[in-house]
Amino acid sequence: MSQRPQNPIIILGAGIIGLTTAVRLLESPLYRDEDIPVHIIADHLPNDPLDARYASTIAGAHHLSFADDEDERQRRWDGRTFEVMFDEWKNEGEATGLMAVKQTEMFVGHDKHLKIYEEHPDFKIVEMAERPKDIDHAVSFTSLTMTPLTYLNRLLQRISHLSEGKVRIHRYHIPSLSSLTEPSVQTLIGKGTPLAVVVCVGLGALTLGGVEDKTVFPTRGQVIKVKAPWIKTGWTRQVGDLNGGEGGERTYVIPRADGEVILGGTREEGGWEAEPRQETTQNILRRVLEICPELTQGDSDHKHPVSNQSSPDLHNPTSTDVSAIPTNKKERQTQSSRLQSIIMDNLVGFRPSREGGTRVERGPDLSLTRSVGSGKCQGEGEAEGEAEGEKTVVVYNYGHGGAGWQSCWGTAEDAIALLEAALQ
Ligand SMILES: Cc1cc2nc3c(=O)[nH]c(=O)nc-3n(C[C@H](O)[C@H](O)[C@H](O)COP(=O)(O)OP(=O)(O)OC[C@H]3O[C@@H](n4cnc5c(N)ncnc54)[C@H](O)[C@@H]3O)c2cc1C
Repeated sequence: MSQRPQNPIIILGAGIIGLTTAVRLLESPLYRDEDIPVHIIADHLPNDPLDARYASTIAGAHHLSFADDEDERQRRWDGRTFEVMFDEWKNEGEATGLMAVKQTEMFVGHDKHLKIYEEHPDFKIVEMAERPKDIDHAVSFTSLTMTPLTYLNRLLQRISHLSEGKVRIHRYHIPSLSSLTEPSVQTLIGKGTPLAVVVCVGLGALTLGGVEDKTVFPTRGQVIKVKAPWIKTGWTRQVGDLNGGEGGERTYVIPRADGEVILGGTREEGGWEAEPRQETTQNILRRVLEICPELTQGDSDHKHPVSNQSSPDLHNPTSTDVSAIPTNKKERQTQSSRLQSIIMDNLVGFRPSREGGTRVERGPDLSLTRSVGSGKCQGEGEAEGEAEGEKTVVVYNYGHGGAGWQSCWGTAEDAIALLEAALQ
C-alpha cells in the first residue's frame, strides 16, 4: 500500500452511511499514517432539496432498534451507535442535532418487547394500571432523536476538520464501479487507480454497475413534519409483531431538538411513488392523535412551549388514555384542524432495504483498466492506450432499510475494519 500512496480511497455515497464511514476512515491509522487522498462522490449531498431517493434527509429519525433478540450483529451495530451518539449528546448537547427523550414503545396484539431496549438508560416495563387503553404491553426508556440535516452538516464539518480540508466531495453520478478509472471521473479524483472504494450508496446498489444487487428494494415511507416544540417525549405504537424486523403497523411521534416533530408512518415494500398521498396523511394524523393528543394542545404561536411535564406521561394514565380522544364529531374536527395548522410538510422517502439485511462485507477486488496516453489521464512514462488494471479493494456498506440512523456508527466501524484488514 505504501508503494502507491497517491492512489485514492473513494467513499461512494454521502448519506448518513457514507459520511459516518468517511469520518471513521479519517480517524483510522490507515489515513493518519499514510498520506492517502480521500474523495467522496455522490449524486445527492446533505443540503440539496429533499428527494425520496436520498433517505438520510427524509428520515424521522429516532434510535429505536428493530434488532431481533437473536440477531447479535444488528444488536451490536445499534448498541454501538447509541453509545456513540449518546456520548455526543452528553458532551455537546442539542447543537449536535441529537435530543435525548423519554421514549415509550406500546404494543397491541402481543406482549413482547425487544431485548435491546433493556440496555437503554431508564428502561422499565410500564405496569398495567399505567397503560393507555387497548395497549397490551408497553416499555419506556431513554432514547435519542436526530435532526438529520444538523447532524449531517456536522459530519461534513468533521470531515473537513479531520482532513484539514483535504477531502474533496464531488457531486457526480457513478454509473458503474468500472467507471472509476474513466477520464471523466479521473478529472475529479486524479489519475491513479483507486486503492479502494467503499460502496455506501443505499438504494443505488440496485443499479450501480458492478454491484447491481437485486435483493435491494425500496420500502416507501410517508411522514408529516409539524412544528410542535411543546412535544418533548417520543411515542410509538406497534400493532402486530415486529417479526424480528419492521413488520406490522407502526405509529410514531418523533420530537426533534429544533422543535419540529415527525409524525408517521407507513412501510410499503417495493413502493416507488415519490409524492405523498392525501389519504395517507389523514390516516397518520388520526393514528398519532390516538397516541399523543397533546399535539393539538400547544400554543400555536410556539411562544410558550408546554414544559416536559405536560407531555403525555405514562405515570399519568389519563393524559395518554385513548379515551381522551374526543368521540364527539365537532370536537374531533376541531382537533384535526388544530393539527392541520401546525403541519409544515408531507414527506416521502425510500428506505434502502435489502433481503437478508444490511451488507457490510468485502467484495471481490476490482481489476480496473485505466485509460492512459490521452491527455489528463496519462501516467508518467506510460504508453498510449490502456494500462492493465491495478487491484481496487471493494467494501460494501449499504442496505440499512429503516435502521440506517440507528446503526450508522456500528456499520461504519465494521466497514473500516474490513478496509484496514484488506489494505494491510
Ligand atoms: C420515512 C423514513 C423514516 C426513517 N426513520 C428512521 C429512523 O427513525 N431511524 C433510523 O435509523 N432510520 C430511519 N430511516 C432509514 C434511514 O433513513 C436509512 O436507513 C438511511 O438514511 C440510509 O442511509 P444511506 O446513506 O445508506 O442512504 P441514502 O441516505 O439514501 O444515501 C445514499 C447516497 O448514495 C448516493 N448514490 C447512490 N447511488 C449513487 C451512484 N450511482 N453514484 C453516486 N452516488 C450515488 C446518493 O446520492 C446518496 O448520497 C428512515 C427512512 C425513511 C424513508
